Amino acid sequence: MRFKEIIGQKELKTKLISLVNARRISHTQLFVGPQGSGNLALAVAFSQYINCLNPLEDDSCGECASCIKFEKLIHPDLHFTIPTISPIKKSNELAEEWREEFLKNPYLNDFDWLNTLDTKANKQGNITADECRDIIHRLALTSYEAKYKTQIIWQPELLVKEGNILLKLLEEPPVGTLIILVGSNTEKILPTILSRAQTIKIPKLLDEEISSALIQFHQCDYQKASDIARLSDGNYNMALSLLQSGHDGYFERYSVWMRCCFAGKVDELQKWVDEINETGREYVKNFMGYTSQMMRAAFIYKYGDAKLLRVNAEELAFITKFSAFINQDNLSAILQSLDEAVNQAERNANVKILFLNLSLYIGGQLKHAPKYA
Ligand SMILES: [Zn+2]
Repeated sequence: MRFKEIIGQKELKTKLISLVNARRISHTQLFVGPQGSGNLALAVAFSQYINCLNPLEDDSCGECASCIKFEKLIHPDLHFTIPTISPIKKSNELAEEWREEFLKNPYLNDFDWLNTLDTKANKQGNITADECRDIIHRLALTSYEAKYKTQIIWQPELLVKEGNILLKLLEEPPVGTLIILVGSNTEKILPTILSRAQTIKIPKLLDEEISSALIQFHQCDYQKASDIARLSDGNYNMALSLLQSGHDGYFERYSVWMRCCFAGKVDELQKWVDEINETGREYVKNFMGYTSQMMRAAFIYKYGDAKLLRVNAEELAFITKFSAFINQDNLSAILQSLDEAVNQAERNANVKILFLNLSLYIGGQLKHAPKYA
């Protein structure tokens, strides 16, 4: 994967390239950025650049023997450790499936990946102690041909106790080894791991970066690309999913839902739930993301700077009234319940039950907002 295949992140790419050219490559790095920012893709492009035999000023050549193997993820010195689910298969046994999924969508998240292993998966992915021992064993062997034998560990958040097995290796990897941990949330990574890695922070993508990629690579018209960019909030994986699953009627659906939640009219709510149940899981997940954005927008309208709002006129008109029911306490409770609902939807929970419970909960929270606030 070349840097030019990754959307946006111009400044960061320049920084990574200058680190290589100045030979200031830390042997253990943590690429951390929000979902859909391209953190994994950047880690792969960085490893390819370091190992390129004829590197250009701003990218790997894409043509040398090393690049050709890196582009297909078949270089014998490029290793991935990725989350798996039980019955446990190890990362190296899943190499072929992994290559296919990553090359199809380098912005994929862990649930996209775990879903390809088992569509009925209802489990949290993990990285086992056995995997960690494999990493140590693999990196102890000399490299075949690369300048830097590269080990990418995707989702170091999943390394809990097992992570301690790796501490010595992360502290001092064998000469000529590059370990890149790729994660999204430093708060969930063991402090002992964090302290051993040089952190490279990857920012969220800008709306313009997402919209121009949609126009360039997916023949989107300008309006549709801008709408999707705004809804995906810096997450290109979500933008691709919105492109596929559609995002029609979000606002209408959301405003009806909030009225149902607040009024507690069970008949209407039931009808609404039946309708959203027909839309498909991807639509449901993205719709919940949209709902979170609208909740935050109501809060910003009430307490913050309305100029920061990223809403259209129709949404603004709704928020103007709705914000009376949002305060700091119920906002965080509602956002948490929506996050949890997305997790459950990803784990194949029953959509109807999920939304009925969520509606009752949100309805209760909205009614708790003090009238004077
Ligand atoms: Zn090359």
